Amino acid sequence: MKQYDYLIVGAGLFGSVFAERAKSAGKKCLVIDRRDHIAGNVYTYEQAGINVHKYGPHIFHTNDTEVWEYVSRFTKFYNFKLGTIANYKEEIYSLPFNMYTFNRMWGVLTPEEAEAKIAAQREAAGIAEPKNLEEQAISLVGTDIYEKLIKGYTEKQWGRPCKELPSFIIKRLPVRFTYDNNYFNALYQGIPVGGYTQMVANMLDGIEVRLGVDYLEQKAELDALAEKVVYTGPIDAYFGYKLGALEYRSVRFEVEELDKPNYQGNAVVNYTDRETPYTRIIEHKWFEQGSGEPGKTVISREYSAEWKPGDEPYYPVNDEKNGALYQQYKALAAKEKNVLFGGRLGEYKYYDMDQVVRAALYAAEKELS
Ligand code: UDP
Repeated sequence: MKQYDYLIVGAGLFGSVFAERAKSAGKKCLVIDRRDHIAGNVYTYEQAGINVHKYGPHIFHTNDTEVWEYVSRFTKFYNFKLGTIANYKEEIYSLPFNMYTFNRMWGVLTPEEAEAKIAAQREAAGIAEPKNLEEQAISLVGTDIYEKLIKGYTEKQWGRPCKELPSFIIKRLPVRFTYDNNYFNALYQGIPVGGYTQMVANMLDGIEVRLGVDYLEQKAELDALAEKVVYTGPIDAYFGYKLGALEYRSVRFEVEELDKPNYQGNAVVNYTDRETPYTRIIEHKWFEQGSGEPGKTVISREYSAEWKPGDEPYYPVNDEKNGALYQQYKALAAKEKNVLFGGRLGEYKYYDMDQVVRAALYAAEKELS
């Protein structure tokens, strides 16, 4: 008999949901994390009374009622709806692509006029079957929007030409012929009151957590503690990169606390030109209705970079080459006895938070029933 039923590597959303489910099924869990805090990349901390999203903006949105009800057991949510703004060389556009965007771009007033404009640009570009992100974008919204709002931003974020990126990435954004700038098509959307860290702490309530513990450095000792392992770190790191490294994008943040009540008038402003070195500026107080110390605000500029050893991995690069390599690692993972791989890094997948929660609930149900 080992001391724990499950050793859970990573205190992010996948690990924490799995741990919560396992605990409530009567299992004994130990959760460890390499970092000095829980909550993985959804971690928030307080600065000037504002919950700062340390690893980039996270808006919880889902169409999955069960997932929404599950997370709502651990937090209340601000009724927040994301409406992003794009700054292209000091022209301001509404995102995602909607009638406000089309009106600002072309002066069109009706959905018919906007659709006709896009159809004409699609035809001029001669795209029948979109094969990559560039073709997909032009075929969805036309060349003008592609050039001003997509090309520069995407190439900064991914560090690759749009022609070499998979088209699914741009399909994350809705295209609407209505005056509706809600960034997500979601039945439920919100920001946890008190921050994501508190929500995750509530999930982990009563579960042993050890921080600052690097699993891969002490694998044998840690494995000896538990019957099974749930691993949510990078899958290629688990195997010592023996088939080669998967590619990830990393993000660097420059955080500034300012003595002013309102810096940019919105939670998210994207800089979609190629020259501005950062992709977007987040003003964290606008996720929580302008909360925080009066006269203060906290902003962060996001700089995207190729991941290299020692950096934090954020986004898997889900193109063909990496997809093929991941399949090889996945085959190795299937042979690992008593280890479950999960989450954005463990499954090398551009998951949203609700999809991670859903995946962890499935994994727990399968494992624990
Ligand atoms: N995107 C873009 N222009 C924008 C915002 C997004 O071209 O102003 C594209 C870009 O390729 C990005 C993708 O849409 O990678 C998905 O954007 P999303 O906001 O979902 O990215 P995340 O918030 O996950 O970084």
